[in-house]
Amino acid sequence: MPDLIIRNLHASIDGAEILRGVDLELSRGEVHAIMGPNGSGKSTLAHVLMGHPSYEVTEGEVEFMGEQVLELDPDERSRLGLFLAFQYPSAVPGVTVANFLRMAVNAHRRTPDGEDNPIRIPEFRKLLQENMEQLKIDRTMTSRYLNDGFSGGEKKRMEMLQMAVLRPQIAILDETDSGLDIDALRIVSDGVNSLVGPEMGALVITHYSRLLKYIKPDHIHVLVGGRVVRSGGPELADELERDGYTPYGVEEAAV
Ligand code: ADP
Ligand code: MG
Repeated sequence: MPDLIIRNLHASIDGAEILRGVDLELSRGEVHAIMGPNGSGKSTLAHVLMGHPSYEVTEGEVEFMGEQVLELDPDERSRLGLFLAFQYPSAVPGVTVANFLRMAVNAHRRTPDGEDNPIRIPEFRKLLQENMEQLKIDRTMTSRYLNDGFSGGEKKRMEMLQMAVLRPQIAILDETDSGLDIDALRIVSDGVNSLVGPEMGALVITHYSRLLKYIKPDHIHVLVGGRVVRSGGPELADELERDGYTPYGVEEAAV
């Protein structure tokens, strides 16, 4: 059975229906990309999967690791192994990267009845060091304050490091592409390529096919008007690059 199963998912915000029946299946070891024009519901899907309170699910179901996810709080989803890359985007004064990551790891280690089971400091240092080496992140990064004056590329490094230490079963990356210069593109793609494996899968959401030159997805899904209108293999990226979304009835101006 796939690790993540989305069935006929409908979701609204402020009474406006955005997702209109999304079906998708994804397992560890796989990279799926969701592509679509602006406003097609890509970020809505990411938010709904993580349990953002502004969205109302009106129909359908989401199963993750055999559990009905829609009934779970965001932190329970996270502990189950679902990860959203932009979950902590703002600056946190007074909290270093290392401390923040340790809190995140400890939140995951809490027992189901909420009892603390904190990671020992030497063990955490080792975990951090190994992952920083794997992702080629400079040591000085961890003593800086979280996101305080971080460049776009540094924020992406931080996200990848967070993903690395938490080792989710499925990571969702909503790449708006706006802030993705070549440097940031490389960081995200190197991170995904080095972390995805038998124990981890990724759902990479992107507007442009540019990112998919660096991350080779196994499957590509085209989201238009809140529905997956087409699914295919990696070759779909070239087709979308060439023809855009107009074959799916999207006006050129909306792309
Ligand atoms: P994407 O990430 O694909 O660009 P989004 O999921 O961000 O698309 O947005 C999908 C649609 O939801 C857009 O048409 C947007 O205008 C609409 N939308 C977002 N927030 C609200 C809101 N608060 N009320 C009504 N519509 C909204
Ligand atoms: Mg978006």
